[in-house]
Amino acid sequence: MPLDLVLRQGRLAGSEQAPLDIGIANGRIVDIAAHIAAEAPEERLDGRLVIAGFVESHIHLDKSRILDRCDCKEGTLAEAIASVAAAKRAFTEPDIYARAQRTLEKAIIQGTTRMRTHVEVDPRVGLNGFDAVRRLKRDYAWALDLQICVFPQEGLTNDPGAEELLVQACEQGADLIGGCPYTDTDPAAHLDRIFAIARRFDLDIDLHLDFDLDPSWMHLDEVCWQTDAHRWGGRVAVGHATKLSAIEPPRLAEIGRRLADTGIAVTVLPSTDLFLMGRDRDHHVPRGVTPVHRLLPLGVTCSLATNNVLNPFTPFGDCSLIRMANLYANVAQLGRPSDLSLCFDMITTLPARLMNAADYGVAVGRPADLVVLDGRDPAMAVAELAQPLFGLKRGRRSFTRAAAILHHP
Ligand SMILES: [Zn+2]
Repeated sequence: MPLDLVLRQGRLAGSEQAPLDIGIANGRIVDIAAHIAAEAPEERLDGRLVIAGFVESHIHLDKSRILDRCDCKEGTLAEAIASVAAAKRAFTEPDIYARAQRTLEKAIIQGTTRMRTHVEVDPRVGLNGFDAVRRLKRDYAWALDLQICVFPQEGLTNDPGAEELLVQACEQGADLIGGCPYTDTDPAAHLDRIFAIARRFDLDIDLHLDFDLDPSWMHLDEVCWQTDAHRWGGRVAVGHATKLSAIEPPRLAEIGRRLADTGIAVTVLPSTDLFLMGRDRDHHVPRGVTPVHRLLPLGVTCSLATNNVLNPFTPFGDCSLIRMANLYANVAQLGRPSDLSLCFDMITTLPARLMNAADYGVAVGRPADLVVLDGRDPAMAVAELAQPLFGLKRGRRSFTRAAAILHHP
């Protein structure tokens, strides 16, 4: 078969083998071998790491880049929700599109090839966010696969009109449904409604959950129960779950086994959790980041993600997932190569599993979604924040970042 492109001598994550050639035709990987004999355009990777791209399992494109519209003083979660709720009333579709576009382009340049974005739907913003992000999904399909998760950030049963709007978004093609029971006056009923909508439209569920450091109660129990009752295992993810950072290892292991048995995935948002948790303390401030590396060996699917960019929830952000893996490793005090490698998995293969992206990976037959990192193995990539050099989406070059050059005298 004639090839469109050959990547020469790239290293594959999780493979101890010597560098390999990757042959691409018609947007797919058609050959992987020590040497591919072909008269085709080629790129020499010189032993650099080649992956199927970073996978962002939790980001809010619609409310990114609004720091200049919010005046936050306390830095608490409640203040962040209230100030974004106020700013949201002025969001228009073109405004959301323009901000989300800048964030999305940044993520592409950082090597992300798949993304799940949460989008707020409620009577204040209506379907403006959904419409804008849906347009973005179409306009950037050449670079990134975008899943849209619509959700009611400010509650559901306490917010008349929110459920009708969520259903409308699902009728118009939302990829999955999210929830936020901690902002609802009736969290259990909130979860009931979300599972009911998910069943009606056959959608996966991704919830914002247990976002504080009080371990005396958890909505996770109710989510496990409902997931079992609806037989929705493997289709449910929860984000934050910071309460799990405030319990001792035996209880964490018990909950981990339950999550694995039920089929509930956990996403940690290190930057947001570090910024918002422990605001009631002025010294010995807890980290508030759930140690998901302890859940992985129990069989829980875990991922690390960006969450917010330049807004009151997280006034930082460059959309770099390798930075998020490095931040998590640092906060979780992980330094051994095998642990750093797990952090790498939590921004690549594991979020792909969380998102039920069955065709993700560097293998023959898969889409030629490939990103080359300026590093040689996953652990060192996390340790050194190896930068992406270029990427392909379905075989077509989607971005290039020039490597830095040192000018010796
Ligand atoms: Zn979030």
